[in-house]
Amino acid sequence: MNAHVYRFHVGTFECAIVNDGAFFYPHPAQVFFDDVPEERVMQALQEHQIDPAAWETYPSPYPSLLVKTGDRIVLVDTGVGGLAPTTGQLLPNLRSIDVAPEEIDTVILTHGHPDHIGGNLDSTGKPAFANARYVMGREEWDFWATDPDLASLKIPMFIEIIRSVARAQLPPIRDRLTLVEEGDEIIPGIAVVAAPGHTPGHIALRITSEGEQLLWGVDTALHPIHVEHPDWVSKADYLPHETVVTRRRLLGQAAVDRALVHMYHFPFPGLGHVVLHDGGWRWQPLVLPSANA
Ligand SMILES: [Zn+2]
Repeated sequence: MNAHVYRFHVGTFECAIVNDGAFFYPHPAQVFFDDVPEERVMQALQEHQIDPAAWETYPSPYPSLLVKTGDRIVLVDTGVGGLAPTTGQLLPNLRSIDVAPEEIDTVILTHGHPDHIGGNLDSTGKPAFANARYVMGREEWDFWATDPDLASLKIPMFIEIIRSVARAQLPPIRDRLTLVEEGDEIIPGIAVVAAPGHTPGHIALRITSEGEQLLWGVDTALHPIHVEHPDWVSKADYLPHETVVTRRRLLGQAAVDRALVHMYHFPFPGLGHVVLHDGGWRWQPLVLPSANA
């Protein structure tokens, strides 16, 4: 069992969730559930067998998705790179499943946050995936191109990192960029689902093959408790109202479709289903086989 790689299939597509490492977010209760009364948060945490008093950090994985469709090799997001001693393992973990960066022909960037674009470049400042075109939502690219004022984010300690990583990692891919919008099929079987809120042009992906579906939800929800409480936004959600609207649309559709769903910051590998519960939804993590990969 390789704890950093989880392999599965969507129809005939060979997929692997490949971790870049873990980052420990401080004060998760305050960061994930902004402006929610403390006793409601405490109750939700206890229902998830989390001791609120001991919940000082949240170890988030930074998982990229690799999809081999048969004639294409696609990577979704590039991790955070070497921002922390516990990150920057995407390329070694890809090599552990015999994937070289030059083989990847399409890199899809879901949004411009450091933990999703931080591995765009190699140590010399060139695109790390030498033969790939990079794909990003048009609205998201335009947002970062304006060097936006991020002061409204309630995570002051991260604002400078967010700004500097976007400035460093996005301009060098401009020459090989394809911009996409809601409904565009990036390659056959991988379609864009607009998911604004977390950032203005944040995109999710609907991946379909042979009647099977994976909704790659990215940062639509950051913690499983957000599935039960879709109106509890985080301090990192740039547009709180749109975040809630997007969550309700994607979670509701996933429940109806019984789609396999992935959320980026959920405990690795982050796959599960959205199930109806008490008039709302609940996250049901995929039961993993004892050995994989
Ligand atoms: Zn993220």
